[in-house]
Amino acid sequence: MRKLDTFFMRTYGCQMNELDSEIMVGQLEKRGMRRIQEETDADLLIFNTCSIRDLSERKVMGKLGQLGRTKTKRSLIGVTGCMAMAKKDSLFRKLPHVDFVLGTNNISDLNQVLDEVLDSGKQSFRTDSQFEENLDYLAAKRDDKVKAYVSIIRGCDKFCTYCVVPYTRGQEVSRDPDSIIEECKQLAAQGYKEITLLGQNVNSYGKDKPEWKCLFHDLLYRIDKIEGIERVRFMTSHPTDITLDLMHAVRDLPSVCEFVHFPVQAGSSRILKKMHRIYTKEQYLEKVHMLREIVPNVSLGTDIIVGFSTETEEDFQETYDIFKQIAYSVAFIFAYSPRKGTPAFRWSDDIPEEVKQERLQRLLSLHTEICAEERQLMLGTEVEVLVEKSNPEEGQVKGRTRCWKNVAFSGDPSLVGTLQKVKVHSFSNQTLIGERSSPSKLILN
Ligand code: SF4
Repeated sequence: MRKLDTFFMRTYGCQMNELDSEIMVGQLEKRGMRRIQEETDADLLIFNTCSIRDLSERKVMGKLGQLGRTKTKRSLIGVTGCMAMAKKDSLFRKLPHVDFVLGTNNISDLNQVLDEVLDSGKQSFRTDSQFEENLDYLAAKRDDKVKAYVSIIRGCDKFCTYCVVPYTRGQEVSRDPDSIIEECKQLAAQGYKEITLLGQNVNSYGKDKPEWKCLFHDLLYRIDKIEGIERVRFMTSHPTDITLDLMHAVRDLPSVCEFVHFPVQAGSSRILKKMHRIYTKEQYLEKVHMLREIVPNVSLGTDIIVGFSTETEEDFQETYDIFKQIAYSVAFIFAYSPRKGTPAFRWSDDIPEEVKQERLQRLLSLHTEICAEERQLMLGTEVEVLVEKSNPEEGQVKGRTRCWKNVAFSGDPSLVGTLQKVKVHSFSNQTLIGERSSPSKLILN
């Protein structure tokens, strides 16, 4: 059997894909392979794909097509992730030089599939619809030494009409809490200070396994007890499943950061209904109000889609108004693109591209204004920063506040992985700039 020594991996899309890549890297390294950054020299190329938007799919298809035309070295090529799941073996028809296709529920089969391909010389694909629960999470090979992603639930049962995730990642499957705690303890022992709990809808955690008696907020209480984990974040949330218990956990647990990704998607109840988001604008605003009552210093993030099918100027104006009213600190704003296999794909994509782009730009400008105001208000305040990286040439270190704001200040590499109090004196672009200050003053986030 041919021996593979090196591999190149490129990841597209969300944090869940990044974590899947880390798990696959761990599996390949267990096999004795070495990761390299130069794709032309690698024995194996893996593209861990995303199909949430048309653009990301086109990018991967373009890249894979180009490899078929230009590649001289006979590297094996594997396609994994959501696009693999959506297109399955039909990828082989368009891209005959691809050697294997591995769906999102089969990443633990990677080494087996590689052996099959090497042994038989034939193409192979595995795209099971059922998630394989005994995934080797502990094999994940992380580049970051301070922050780590931890998967707690996979799949989604919400079926928003524009979204491919329920079809590419399947139904919700929660991960055993003991296995999550074990991984978090291991990360703490390795020196990790911050973990981000990942799932398409983390707030659904445990609902599929009532016998565990461990819902999402229960899990947060258990993780908070782990010594060494200073910060816990989570994403992403569905507003309907954000409970009072969760809000209390954000308020009461020292490790849980006061930042909640609370994706509204649209501000018009008519559009929300068409998106099957299962809440109205009023219900959403009421929950935000409740959260801000309970956690007054909370920062909010959102996802927004502009130009969804039939969105009028009035509908968009409602999105604009809600954005302004809530003043989101973090926002991922996209122009709608229909995704094959979703209910909305059958509807007319009737908003002209230039209108979508114009609405997108208006929201982006509003977000820029909101962030500039936030930074202005933070001048002179003191924030807690988890130092993530250093730039020894400039004598500077960088990190984030509990509410996800970038901060840079003077310091040496020994500060990486520590929590520092920093007084903000200025800012440039997206980054607050400050200097280390003495402990004991009020900390804003
Ligand atoms: S809740 Fe999120 S992942 Fe689930 S279907 Fe809706 S947009 Fe997709």
